[in-house]
Amino acid sequence: MAHVYDRIALIGLGLIASSMAHAIRKFDLAGSIAGYARSSETRETVREIGFCDEVCETAPEVVRGADLVVLCTPVGVMGDVVDEIGPCLEPGATLSEVGSVKMAVIEAVVPRLPSGVHFVPTHPVAGTEMSGPSSGFAELFEGRWCLFTPLPGTSPEAVERLRSLWRRMGALIDDMDPERHDMVLAVTSHVPHLIAYTMVGVADDLRRVSNAEVVQYSAAGFRDFTRIAASDPTMWRDVFMNNQKATLEILGRFSEELSVLQRAIRGGDGELLHEHFSRTRSIRRGIIEAGQDTGLPDFGRSHGIED
Ligand code: NAP
Repeated sequence: MAHVYDRIALIGLGLIASSMAHAIRKFDLAGSIAGYARSSETRETVREIGFCDEVCETAPEVVRGADLVVLCTPVGVMGDVVDEIGPCLEPGATLSEVGSVKMAVIEAVVPRLPSGVHFVPTHPVAGTEMSGPSSGFAELFEGRWCLFTPLPGTSPEAVERLRSLWRRMGALIDDMDPERHDMVLAVTSHVPHLIAYTMVGVADDLRRVSNAEVVQYSAAGFRDFTRIAASDPTMWRDVFMNNQKATLEILGRFSEELSVLQRAIRGGDGELLHEHFSRTRSIRRGIIEAGQDTGLPDFGRSHGIED
């Protein structure tokens, strides 16, 4: 099958960009891949791993001759990066990005966009707690959703071409309004991360439980929180700084719900707790039925520890 793009430029070379590069190579989706990251250390690592055909020393250099440019940096710097690369983007090229937040990124990028460039925001809802150029793998997007939030007036051909790239990397595609995206992701990803960060911090602060005991007896619940709370601090700082409205809305609802459960525990209302836990159990079943997680006990770990 023909390549989808002649030359793809990736800016920011961490988990998402390296996974894209591996998948683009595996499925032969582009003539060449060029990459740029901020630090010389990351650029050197990428040269050693070899998932880019060319690693450039500057952002303007990497976008020259590219018919697709994908911003794979933390969301907070995307506007600045577009300022840097704008004058060097090829007329007719597509500029995309993979940020976990959409409204703030669109607001930052659109006013800086040179005319004749198609801007198509996306969000691959796939990841791990690992970051950096060594953490990527070609299968990351297989069977995962890649959400498109195309703006009115964008060339349908440019959007369809990018859809084809993601489809051929194994992703499932859906379209979403950017504001709705930020609310849905606040519920399914952003606030759960904040809760994990909070819970791990609480355990760490507890003087009566030493660190050694927390680690030694970490049963599935806490252990799963620690996995999520090990995610990249820069990326997650930027997510909350750029999705304030939706995350604060969901946190408000979370606090209300937590107070109800707190009152039930204090008042000995076992019936309420049981009802609530039964409802949430069925949500887990729904996720498994939708093929978005394994149905194996303890996520399929070989030595599950009892809670
Ligand atoms: P990552 O592994 O931490 O990599 C980020 C990369 O961006 C690094 O190579 C970093 O370079 C580079 N960078 C930072 N500031 C830069 C700048 N000003 N100019 C050029 N490069 C810069 O991050 P990631 O997990 O791949 O996430 C990338 C994007 O994807 C984020 O917007 C995130 O919200 C989104 N996303 C992440 C996930 C996930 O689960 N991780 C899932 C979906 C979407 P240095 O190494 O030199 O610092």
